[in-house]
Amino acid sequence: MSSDASRSLSDVRQTIEPLPDFLRNPTFLPRITQHDGRAVEDALAATLFDSGVRLKAAVIDASYAASEPPLLKRLRDEQLPRLIEPHTLRFTTGRFLEIGALNTLPYAPKTPIQVESFNKAGARDLAQGVLRFAQTHRCDHYLTAALPYHDQNFQDWASFNDWLLEESCSANGSSEIDRRPLIAQVAPGRTALLNPKIVVNRLLDYPIAAAYVQPLNLNPLKDGPEKLKLYVEFLQAISSEGIPVIAARVGAFGLVLQALGIMAFDSGLGQAEASNLAQLNRIPTEKEKARREEGKAGGPDKRIYLEQLKTTLKGNHAAAILNQRGLRSRFVCNHSCCQYRGFEDLALRRRQHFLCAREAEVAAIRDCTTPGLRRDLVREQLRDAQESARLVRRALIELGAEAPRFEHLDRWISLLAQEHLLPAFAN
Ligand SMILES: [Zn+2]
Repeated sequence: MSSDASRSLSDVRQTIEPLPDFLRNPTFLPRITQHDGRAVEDALAATLFDSGVRLKAAVIDASYAASEPPLLKRLRDEQLPRLIEPHTLRFTTGRFLEIGALNTLPYAPKTPIQVESFNKAGARDLAQGVLRFAQTHRCDHYLTAALPYHDQNFQDWASFNDWLLEESCSANGSSEIDRRPLIAQVAPGRTALLNPKIVVNRLLDYPIAAAYVQPLNLNPLKDGPEKLKLYVEFLQAISSEGIPVIAARVGAFGLVLQALGIMAFDSGLGQAEASNLAQLNRIPTEKEKARREEGKAGGPDKRIYLEQLKTTLKGNHAAAILNQRGLRSRFVCNHSCCQYRGFEDLALRRRQHFLCAREAEVAAIRDCTTPGLRRDLVREQLRDAQESARLVRRALIELGAEAPRFEHLDRWISLLAQEHLLPAFAN
């Protein structure tokens, strides 16, 4: 398709179907897994004292949706925009075959998807299977099947993603599958991040409502300024063509993205802010397997989000901070999750706390009437977080305790200072 034709397709998309609120205004989408269902229900529950959290949209893990939990019906009844993350990125190594929640998904392939053997028929089955699953669970938006844009054999993976998007578009509104707005899933590796045009030009060829971007390896807490800049530029390359972007798995960094004009982001409740496909697909060590068999799940401890630090902390770090009387008063949470309660059981309600805090943060950005005000608000919050971080580190070091590091706050502030990354109309 010529670029003129593509452009007109993008214009048509905007004029015929007005963008839904969650793609037009700053929005946080909780990524709901089986671990988060209860916390979301608690947060949604209205009490005598407040009206509960008002979600704008949600991303539901396919493995959780498959169990058809009552929460899904509740979200439907509230007419909340919902999409299902189909986990198709996991299908390129053998690891998913060992995980019941993944290999029992009705569209999961029998063997890992490999460059040598994947074909158009396989792409059709996968694309249609994912849409059918979303339809069965009555989603009002479809998130398409996608495969990683791996650096190795990049052209092959790019073709596979073309096939999947093409098949998704043809199936949408066919005799079997009701037409719904399609959100194209994109999983860029380094080559794709360095060449956003390659991906953007492909997306422009299809009638999609938005792009859901899930990098193969991104850690906003640890990645250097160059990598973060590359990622932001990639997202902006898509959104500047009129395709709204949902940035996946970014945690508090999503607030920085919103200050930079990327409206929507998702993250799990209380997870560390990172996505790393290779890590997810890694075969667990014998020690980890043994721990799991004993019922002691591996993975990180109970992480807690501290809004004033704009950071999800390891449980032991959060406990060390909240145990200090001098520090504790800085971290009082006034949202419905914690109102009238002490910090003692914060770890138990950490997911609900994460959701309430994140909702409130994004609501404040939403309330800013101009992009310039959004940037100023986030920059000010990050500077306050730097100040809190300095106090936390000093107090913990004086006590001889291990102190967390907060250098990511400096990197995030420096991104906001880069004029060329700001939306053109932000000043
Ligand atoms: Zn709270």
